[in-house]
Amino acid sequence: MYDVIVVGGGPTGFVTALGLAQAGADVLLIEAGEAIIDSPRAAVYHWSVLDGLERLGIREEAQRIGFAKRDYLWLVRKTGERIAYDLSVLEGTTAFPYNIHLGQDRLAGLARDRLALLPNAEVRFGTRLRQLTQDAGGVTLTTSNGEELRARWVVGADGAGSTVRKELGLGFDGMTWPERFVATNLYHPFESADYGLSTMVIDDRWGAVIVKIAPDGLWRCTYMEDAALPEASFLDRIPAAYEHLLPGDGGYRLDRAAPYKMHQRCAETFRKGRVLLAGDAAHVTNPTGGFGLTTGLFDAFSLWPTLAAVVLEGAVPTLLDRWAEDRRRIYLERTSPQAVAYKRFVFHANGGGAELEAALQGMRAMAADPDVRLQRLMFVKSLETPSPAEVQMA
Ligand SMILES: Cc1cc2nc3c(=O)[nH]c(=O)nc-3n(C[C@H](O)[C@H](O)[C@H](O)COP(=O)(O)OP(=O)(O)OC[C@H]3O[C@@H](n4cnc5c(N)ncnc54)[C@H](O)[C@@H]3O)c2cc1C
Repeated sequence: MYDVIVVGGGPTGFVTALGLAQAGADVLLIEAGEAIIDSPRAAVYHWSVLDGLERLGIREEAQRIGFAKRDYLWLVRKTGERIAYDLSVLEGTTAFPYNIHLGQDRLAGLARDRLALLPNAEVRFGTRLRQLTQDAGGVTLTTSNGEELRARWVVGADGAGSTVRKELGLGFDGMTWPERFVATNLYHPFESADYGLSTMVIDDRWGAVIVKIAPDGLWRCTYMEDAALPEASFLDRIPAAYEHLLPGDGGYRLDRAAPYKMHQRCAETFRKGRVLLAGDAAHVTNPTGGFGLTTGLFDAFSLWPTLAAVVLEGAVPTLLDRWAEDRRRIYLERTSPQAVAYKRFVFHANGGGAELEAALQGMRAMAADPDVRLQRLMFVKSLETPSPAEVQMA
């Protein structure tokens, strides 16, 4: 019997498993795929999650294989206005006053490599959870290989379509957007057009989030198209979209691209008995602002110490209810509303009238006034909640 089985080898699952294993729990992580999935998704780790990565001993390596960056640019197509600022105002407030840009598969890979060094951790790829039942003593998982696995606790980190969540019979209330997001990785000289390393292009038709994601000059350009267009032919439409989106001279080379259906949805609870939900299995958001995995990482950073205290030190399991309530509240009250507001700002230019002007006033104040900037930059820190077990011990 394992102490904990983590279902899902995305970044949330691997980070949670690493924390638990480093704390001394016997952990098994099962992942349906034969390898870590490398579709183009999260690429930006806000400064606020770097303490949590540091605690796990993977911040430095993440920074080395990705890169640190501080600057932001908001480009308003309608007026040509450029609103720029950086994160230097955070110096003295945090040990790591910068963001790291790195594909989420690389972050998950880092955690996997560290897990491989621990005798109390095991990872099985090509192992899909099919069924889950629980009783007073533990949880039984049946896998696609017909195997039965048993653990005292289970963490469902198996993404938006979570089998764990479905097996628990939990609702996933919310809405699905009528637009499709298209995430493309490409080589193009955005710097020649003075784009910042994170550039938000604000426009009601060709809004985009454009971010440099690798030191070798690879960029991510994410834009939207009508979800009524056939998904199968999304690749054929990229050259026409790029005519509106790429500012630099010198053409482009497309590296990879993927279409995404986008939702704002949240599980009705993040704990049922001996099973916890974290990351996209618990909550999903449109990616504007980069709050999805940020919230998932904060789930993981407060879950692993709490679960480790329950498993290893006999702490009361009700601490996990507290964790579940905290994390659900953060998604509903902070992550989702802000991601919705950013989507409307970047991809719909807030309707173009007074509402746009009000939002731009806010951005201008942020660029001009360090106090406003610091206050607004703290938003990504407010997505964090402490481990209830560590609060109790303090
Ligand atoms: C275009 C785009 C850009 C984004 N950019 C950002 C960003 O910059 N910053 C940010 O914070 N967020 C961003 N996000 C959101 C981010 O990608 C997700 O929040 C993140 O993937 C969640 O990680 P996860 O580990 O919870 O789930 P996932 O990454 O979905 O991982 C789940 C894993 O579980 C496995 N699995 C599924 N079912 C089973 C099963 N039955 N048994 C075993 N394994 C199973 C899957 O194979 C998968 O490997 C972006 C999303 C998109 C689409």
